[in-house]
Amino acid sequence: MSKLSIRDLGLAGKRVFIRVDFNVPLEDGKVADDTRITAAIPTIQYAADKGARVILASHLGRPKGQRNPKYSLRPVAEHLAKLLGKPVAFANDCIGEEAAKVVNAMKDGEITLLENLRFHTGEESNDPKFAEQLAALCDVYVNDAFGAAHRAHASTEGITKYVKQAAAGFLMEKELRYLSEALSNPRRPFVVILGGAKVSDKIQVVENLLKSAETVLIGGAMAYTFLKARGLEVGKSLVEPDKTELASQLEAKAKERNVNLQLPVDHVVAANPDDGANAKNVSIYETPADLMGLDIGSETQKAYAEIIERAQTIIWNGPMGIFEKAPFDQGTRAVAQAVARVSENNDATSIIGGGDSVAAIQETGLAGKITHISTGGGATLELLAGDILPGVVALSEK
Ligand code: AMP
Repeated sequence: MSKLSIRDLGLAGKRVFIRVDFNVPLEDGKVADDTRITAAIPTIQYAADKGARVILASHLGRPKGQRNPKYSLRPVAEHLAKLLGKPVAFANDCIGEEAAKVVNAMKDGEITLLENLRFHTGEESNDPKFAEQLAALCDVYVNDAFGAAHRAHASTEGITKYVKQAAAGFLMEKELRYLSEALSNPRRPFVVILGGAKVSDKIQVVENLLKSAETVLIGGAMAYTFLKARGLEVGKSLVEPDKTELASQLEAKAKERNVNLQLPVDHVVAANPDDGANAKNVSIYETPADLMGLDIGSETQKAYAEIIERAQTIIWNGPMGIFEKAPFDQGTRAVAQAVARVSENNDATSIIGGGDSVAAIQETGLAGKITHISTGGGATLELLAGDILPGVVALSEK
């Protein structure tokens, strides 16, 4: 990467503003899942060990520019302190006197977390005045919030105009390295697995990956827009009728480029997601008009697993069915197992992105076998679509 790294910065005695992604789920005022917090610890620890005064900033939820205790980052500061085994100070605001008071009291190696950036409208509107106020707290800036890098907000983009140096943190570097290497120089065969609810979210991703993948496996509800475009009966399955034309074009493009774009050959159907007791496996040519497809079927699971197990690079985004509700989790589980097996047995590079597929792999207990689990949802998809992330562009060149 040609962007400045935290390794390139002199940190001792400096006030270092680190934009992290602490947008974590809270339950009863406690952190319910700390994956994103632990992912940022190498950067935080490194800066503190080098004698920096570490100022952490993040958004949490969508408070829409209003101070709202429900979205306070205070519980996150407490959780982080436990993880680090050292105190983490908390500033009641991310700008102005409140923030300056806490930051000015810091000693080298100490850590402060600022209150939710989105308590101010200036964060999302990328207001230059707000960005300048954030920058006033620090000497150098580090962005480790890969999950927020696709947004041009004050703390991810605007602030870089008011600091001398803007560098990438370790998590940011790792995410960019894995994703861009897989895209630009994949070991082959390169297999992409796409699922989830909507084709519309992933059209650009499919288009971009058709340039480099040998095979694209489609599952989840997004398969039905493709099946409908082929003229098949899809019953009550979730379809985006206005996207069938696009689905046909993508299929044609795949053929032109010799990419094997595969759709399910069978699926699990029921009256609705709560009707698991009456679920049945049918061919995609025999979908009853009054039922909906809620998971890939057993033949499809087998066929997809065989392809996955021959791959050397795998990128997976989106579940194969309504995996939140048994028995419609079977297809996603089968894919998770195949990805884990090929990573372990064939030394394949596997990358999983998007909240739902990550949740699915964690639930199967196979996460440890995956090469890289991305912390980004939208940011991962935008990179896979070939877009440049504003939060990355804004960093200083080496
Ligand atoms: P996405 O955010 O686009 O990755 O979509 C994830 C959501 O898609 C999950 O909540 C799944 O339950 C849902 N999903 C996957 N397959 C289906 C399906 N066949 N019908 C309806 N929803 C589905």
